[in-house]
Amino acid sequence: KIELKNIYKKYDKQVVVDHMTLTIPDQSFTVILGPSGCGKSTLLRLISGLEDIESGEISIDDHDVTYLEPKDRKIAMVFQNYALYPHMSAYKNVEYGLKVQGMPKEERTRMVLNALKMVELEDQANKLPAQMSGGQRQRVALARAMVKSPAAYLMDEPLSNLDARLRNQMRQTISTLHAQLNKTFVYVTHDQLEAMSMGDNIIILNKGKIMQQGTPKEIYMNPANLFVAKFIGSPP
Ligand code: ATP
Ligand code: MG
Repeated sequence: KIELKNIYKKYDKQVVVDHMTLTIPDQSFTVILGPSGCGKSTLLRLISGLEDIESGEISIDDHDVTYLEPKDRKIAMVFQNYALYPHMSAYKNVEYGLKVQGMPKEERTRMVLNALKMVELEDQANKLPAQMSGGQRQRVALARAMVKSPAAYLMDEPLSNLDARLRNQMRQTISTLHAQLNKTFVYVTHDQLEAMSMGDNIIILNKGKIMQQGTPKEIYMNPANLFVAKFIGSPP
C-alpha cells in the first residue's frame, strides 16, 4: 500500500497539494480524478520522488520513501508526456531498464516483444520516438513500464493522445494487466467515465485537497458535496 501523511507542496506561493493524508490500498486500481490544474500530476510526481515535498511523509509497502531517490522507490511511472529516450528505438526504450538490471538477452527479448505486442506496436519496434505518432509514443511508454515489475504503477493520463478505438482497447489492456499482476495501480485522469469504469477506488481532488474517496458506486450514489456531485454527474 501507499501511504501519504500530511503531504504539502507549493510552487512559489501557490499551494498545490494541501496537507493531504491518504491510503492507497494494496492491489487496488485507484483512480485520481479532478479538473485540470487540481494537482493530480504533482501528486504522482511526489509519490514517485520526481518532485520534493515541503513537509509530510510518504511510505510504500511500509517503507518510508520520503527521502529516497525515484529509482529506489520500486514504482513505474507512465507520464502524460511519455518521456522516452529520443535517441533510442521503441524496442530499446522498452529494453533499457532490463538491460541496466542485468537481465540475460534472451529473457529480455522475450519480455520486450511481449510488451510491444500487448500495446500493438510489434511493427514499430525499430522506430525512434520522433518517427512515431503521439499515441504510439504513449504506448511505448506503457510497454516500458509493463516490463519493470515494480511494487506499484503510477500512470498519468496514459491514454490522452489515443483515438477512441485504441483508448478503449488500452483501457482493457491496462485493466487486464492489473488483474494479472496483482499490483497497485494509481491512475490519473480527468475523464469521469474512464475513472468510474476502470477504478475500484476513486479519489476526487480539487485545488490540492481530497473531496472524497470511495468506490465508484459510493461516490456516484453518495457524493460528499456539491463539487463531487457536479463533477461526477450524480443524480440530484
Ligand atoms: P491536468 O489535468 O491539466 O494535467 P493536473 O491536475 O495534473 O492538471 P498539475 O500539473 O499537478 O495539475 O498542476 C497543479 C498546479 O500546479 C497548476 O496550477 C500548475 O500551474 C502548478 N504547477 C505545476 N507544475 C509547476 C511547476 N513546475 N512550477 C510552477 N507551478 C507548477
Ligand atoms: Mg496533469
